[in-house]
Amino acid sequence: MSARWTRRPGTWLTVALALVLAGVLIAALGRGNARPGTAAAGSPPPSASTTAPVPVKDPDWMRPLRPGEKPPQFVLFSFDGAGSHEHWSRYLSLAQSVHAHFSGFLSGIYLLTDEQRSRYTGPGHKPGAASIGFGGSAAEVATRVQDLNTAVAAGHQIGTHYNGHFCAGAEPGVGRWTTAGWTDEIGQFSRFVDDARDHLGLHLSATDVTGGRTPCLEGNWAQAFPAMRAAGYTFDSSQPSDGVKWPTKLDGIWEFWMPYVQVPALHKKVIMMDYNLWYQLGHSKNDAGRYTQATLDTYRGAYRAAFDGNRAPLVIGNHFNDWAGGAFSRAAEGFMGEVCTKPETVCATYAEVTKWMSLQDPAVLDKYRSMPLAQSG
Ligand SMILES: [Zn+2]
Repeated sequence: MSARWTRRPGTWLTVALALVLAGVLIAALGRGNARPGTAAAGSPPPSASTTAPVPVKDPDWMRPLRPGEKPPQFVLFSFDGAGSHEHWSRYLSLAQSVHAHFSGFLSGIYLLTDEQRSRYTGPGHKPGAASIGFGGSAAEVATRVQDLNTAVAAGHQIGTHYNGHFCAGAEPGVGRWTTAGWTDEIGQFSRFVDDARDHLGLHLSATDVTGGRTPCLEGNWAQAFPAMRAAGYTFDSSQPSDGVKWPTKLDGIWEFWMPYVQVPALHKKVIMMDYNLWYQLGHSKNDAGRYTQATLDTYRGAYRAAFDGNRAPLVIGNHFNDWAGGAFSRAAEGFMGEVCTKPETVCATYAEVTKWMSLQDPAVLDKYRSMPLAQSG
């Protein structure tokens, strides 16, 4: 940092002031991958709570559209689970290299060690039961906290994938939960996050989490949304749409739709989520090359349709997974690497796109919302 300052011709007073103001930023840079000008989102660690916040400079595109200007083509990469150190490392470094922001939807029980599993009781389930694993050893949880902190410092968003991942068949699955069940589940997620903040140094509070994706995209929305709203959530990204569709405010929550899009290799439409693609492509463990190519072609077609059409934000939904030999992670990485640097294209978080929408003239956005949903051929 010193070399950067000594090149500046400003007075020593300016430099000294700037250094004071930059103190927290320097600390953030030491912790993670933050670039100057990106937000150090979330709560500061307790020791820094009396320090002035870092001024956040908005990116160039965070402004109202100019007359006649098209919306940026937003691409929202979002990863469910968000527990794997290897995947965090890969995506964090790739995102930094292509100036992308993305969202990790954390499974809350990944913040509990295996020994702490009885701290979680899913609605209608026994204490310690879940359809996914818990957080592993204390060292693994500590590594996860570091990954989450690095992500937050770099401007990525942490949302929720809830806790026990109870889908249809693991009854009562999330599709059968009442509002009380969802309130219980969200309350436990919030407690796991705040406990990790208080005891493990997580730079995130439950109040920083403003939405997420339900397990297997399931849920009775009439029951779930009141609980999400009561928790202060502002978005969900679980419900399907027939084509790429602008986010819609449903019952006080922004729904960022999961689009059904054409999969060229299958000549049919599939919901654009890794598991759904894998299932429809044959669910084999040993067809990695074909799956990666088919998924990349699907992403490219959907992106092109949205870019040339209604410019609706494109949600790329994945897990941190190694299914089919890592085929779907490679497809997401390949697409992130190529799409985020394209002209008029911004790889952003849900919070960023929500803020951008709030800055627009509603009549201008309505014009794009009224266009046909983007359909890839
Ligand atoms: Zn999931």
